[in-house]
Amino acid sequence: MPGRHVNHYSKRTRQPRKGLTARLAILIFLLAAVGALSIFSANLYLAMQSLHRNLDSLEEKLEQVEQENIKLEEQYDQIHEEKEKLREENEILREENKMMRSETIIEYGNRETNKVAITIDDGADAALTHRALDYLREHNLQATLFPKGNNVEQNPEVWQRAVEEGHELGNHTYSHPFITNISADRVREEISGWQESVDKAVDSSYRTLFFRPPYGDGFLSGQSHHTGRLQEIIAEKGMFTVLWDVELIYALRNQAYTPARVTEHVLANAKGGSIVLLHFNEADIDALPDIISGLRDRGLEPCSLSELLLD
Ligand SMILES: [Zn+2]
Repeated sequence: MPGRHVNHYSKRTRQPRKGLTARLAILIFLLAAVGALSIFSANLYLAMQSLHRNLDSLEEKLEQVEQENIKLEEQYDQIHEEKEKLREENEILREENKMMRSETIIEYGNRETNKVAITIDDGADAALTHRALDYLREHNLQATLFPKGNNVEQNPEVWQRAVEEGHELGNHTYSHPFITNISADRVREEISGWQESVDKAVDSSYRTLFFRPPYGDGFLSGQSHHTGRLQEIIAEKGMFTVLWDVELIYALRNQAYTPARVTEHVLANAKGGSIVLLHFNEADIDALPDIISGLRDRGLEPCSLSELLLD
């Protein structure tokens, strides 16, 4: 059976040839697969590497941020500490300030200067007060005015003008009582009553450092038993007590009270550092222009209390 053999042979030889091609194909395929895989894994490797690097730099940045955070926290603590220290210092200053105010009664300022403070008390009807403000404006003088709170309430526009024109207002109580006759609580009410009237008139919260007791009551000679108690209250309200060293009502009590006498008395008695007490009465206001010019002619500089005491 040679044919069969041949057939068999040819079958067997054809088959391995076929098998070789297939194997080659498989081999090529495998090689390609390995190649592709290695390219793929190389890419993967590179990608991993760069991911690692990114991760590292992220970690670094995180660490930096954390460090900055710690630094900021430290700064915050420091600021907080400083704030606390300032608060304590402020408290001490406030206490010292109050003690200083409760011990200070001002009758005049620095005698080494040529300044003379002009203060005008109580207020009057609107016409007279406006006249006084006109004189002050004409003579370019900003003075310190101590109106009663109830006068401010009655003539708010007058006192608004006074503040607008640069005059300062001092607390002279609401209703001008003898303060040694009333309780501590009533004194407090008189002081805040003045404050409320002024705040309303000038439409904002007005601050003054100066308190002048009506009639000087509580601070006159022989009244020292009242003074300490009143000073405590005035200091608690953040003010100094300001009296005067030149006044007219007591000085001219037995004489004709005329503008000429008023002017003469002021010019004869005011010196550097003086605090002149005038009132919103006809004679004092009529005398005002001559007082201002007369002081200037003598080389003195009429001014407000702040300019005398705080500059
Ligand atoms: Zn008065």
